[in-house]
Amino acid sequence: MNARADTIAAVASAPGAGGVGVLRVSGDRAAAIAKAMLGRPPRARHAHYAAFRAADGGVIDRGLLLWFPAPRSYTGEDVLELQAHGSPVVLRVLLARLVELGARHARAGEFSERAFLNGRIDLAQAEAVADLIASGSEAAARAAQRSLDGEFSARVHALAERVVRLRVWIEAAIDFPEEEIDFLAAPELATEVDATHADLLALLRAARRGVRLADGLHVVIVGRPNVGKSSLLNALAASERAIVTDVAGTTRDVLRETIDLDGVALTLVDTAGLREAADVVEREGIRRARGELERADLAVLVSDDEHARLDADLLRAVPPRAARIVVHNKIDLAGARARREEHDGVVHLWLSALSREGLDALVAELRRHAGAEEGDAGAFSARARHVAALERTRTHFDAALAALAEHNAGELAAEDLRRAHDALGEITGEVSADDLLGEIFSSFCIGK
Ligand code: GDP
Ligand code: ZN
Repeated sequence: MNARADTIAAVASAPGAGGVGVLRVSGDRAAAIAKAMLGRPPRARHAHYAAFRAADGGVIDRGLLLWFPAPRSYTGEDVLELQAHGSPVVLRVLLARLVELGARHARAGEFSERAFLNGRIDLAQAEAVADLIASGSEAAARAAQRSLDGEFSARVHALAERVVRLRVWIEAAIDFPEEEIDFLAAPELATEVDATHADLLALLRAARRGVRLADGLHVVIVGRPNVGKSSLLNALAASERAIVTDVAGTTRDVLRETIDLDGVALTLVDTAGLREAADVVEREGIRRARGELERADLAVLVSDDEHARLDADLLRAVPPRAARIVVHNKIDLAGARARREEHDGVVHLWLSALSREGLDALVAELRRHAGAEEGDAGAFSARARHVAALERTRTHFDAALAALAEHNAGELAAEDLRRAHDALGEITGEVSADDLLGEIFSSFCIGK
């Protein structure tokens, strides 16, 4: 703890005026600062009503002073919290006073970073703090709370323990080379390998869902001009829970609209915007359109053709990993009925953006893809970083299995399992590069 003995201070409440404003101090000098602000030593975890005074004795504000001595505090260090009136001026003056008394301004996320470095929370929990603060829906907030409580971390740890047990078993077998061992012939090992693999896949699925819950599903509506993409977006936006927003800074109308349909982000991309173009403005439009498509989890391919001959250019632009729904719009013109069919695993919907007939089926389909129907029971928040680490874990685990199954190569398998274990350690921060930590904590807000 002494390596980080310098004492940090920040306003922890949101910027702007509010009923109450909170300042937070953490570090070795917090005790002396607390004593100076209260006029006597504070009692631990007790709400003192105090006059916060300037150096000349004048009262800056009156409010509550709370004292959390190490290690039972958010950061694990001595922590002082002041609750004052939520005026930006009062808070600025109080912060300056804390700095005068020996603290320095905290960087973004520095309190949470110290909590992590002092072992109060692991990295996934620290990220959950930021995700909870940023959560845009109740479901996302509940999920972040579960991650903060350590539910995600506990599952990562349980999986890491299984991987270590396998490695220990294999290494022990290598150390007794009296006879040629057939690793996978040992029934307990084969069973454990299967169970660990199943655990890993389940956790990967849960983490993917956690990312979707936190970020929303990125749906891109694509199709040739005039097939009715904008009409469809507007029809969806008009449904009860949608909010229409403008994405600023786009040069073409194609990407101007995004709606939030119950946590599902919908963006509009015109295929016209994907064609090769000569002028700079249009090239920029193309770049943005392709960028949207690359990030898509789901592409809604719209046509106004009964038989939906989809443009080959259009299909090529949809990334292979993205799911697809084909919408046959304008059934009112053809006098057709709304219907749903599945061909080769792709859902086709016949509807009318104008009359709204069949629109419910599309909303249901979008909600299904977003995981809304599963509810959020037991879901925890996760980040793309966690999914990537779990995917690397799977790659190494599969390599270990192949080493055993195809070459009976225990040493190679043990090495692959060690890599799988390291990849899991990146999630909780047991194995982490400094630049990764810097990147994660700098995205926090000041005072967190
Ligand atoms: P976009 O270029 O793909 O965005 O297409 P628009 O949404 O701008 O629609 C092009 C034209 O088709 C407009 O005149 C719409 O009113 C019309 N349109 C869109 N959807 C329907 C529909 O379901 N039925 C009918 N009859 N017309 C539609
Ligand atoms: Zn349009």
